[in-house]
Amino acid sequence: MIKFLGFRKRKHGDSAAGSETARHDHERRQFRAVLESINATRIPDRLKILDEFLTVELHITLADMLEFIKVGGNHDYDLEFLRETMEMFCQCGFAQKNEFETQETTYEHHHLGEHHDHFICISCGLIREFRNSRLESLQLEIASGCNFHPLQHKMEIYGLCDACLSKREKNPPLSRTAVGEKVRVVEVVGGRQFQARMTAMGLNPGVLLEVINNNPAGPFIVAVQGTRLALDADMAQSVLVSHACRHKGDEDG
Ligand SMILES: [Zn+2]
Ligand SMILES: [Zn+2]
Ligand SMILES: [Zn+2]
Repeated sequence: MIKFLGFRKRKHGDSAAGSETARHDHERRQFRAVLESINATRIPDRLKILDEFLTVELHITLADMLEFIKVGGNHDYDLEFLRETMEMFCQCGFAQKNEFETQETTYEHHHLGEHHDHFICISCGLIREFRNSRLESLQLEIASGCNFHPLQHKMEIYGLCDACLSKREKNPPLSRTAVGEKVRVVEVVGGRQFQARMTAMGLNPGVLLEVINNNPAGPFIVAVQGTRLALDADMAQSVLVSHACRHKGDEDG
């Protein structure tokens, strides 16, 4: 049950709580009007789901939403009904669906006239929102310079949150690095013959690599000096690397 407390907005001692409640009442009335105008079925149930969804903070998966409603709202709905209702929220502009890479689909509130973008931690799944007016204007400026007229956009930046960055292994094997990471070979572990083979492939200490694919279902691919190399599991396990992108808090060297 504690798990779901984090999803709920603070209701007491929050100065914005009054305007938030007014906004939610407004959303509820609008949604009822839309549902009635399209002759939707089970309107009271859908409104109960909206009530629960409006108290949710940040991004929530369908499975968590189902459990959240069960625990907090005391209603038990089946997953398909919930999915259909959440899709209705999205279609009618009350919710927004996010499909971030390597994550389950999540839903969040759609506040009219507001826009934000996302940082996604590839390690723990944390989603952090950001708003930056300079970045927004820069995008418009770039588009205009390319004779392009953007109508909407999504910016998703994948990486590590502070907590995951501080726990990151200093010299992991290539097999434990992330797609898109730039790393430097520190050591190749193995017998002389194996080392010679790796050297012939260009995998020497000091060489910079970019991880192209490390999905277990597919080949492990790295880019080395402008060439794509496919490595088997043993090879990816034997090459120890250091992270080449420097971040706040990284030690030197
Ligand atoms: Zn944006
Ligand atoms: Zn994280
Ligand atoms: Zn968001």
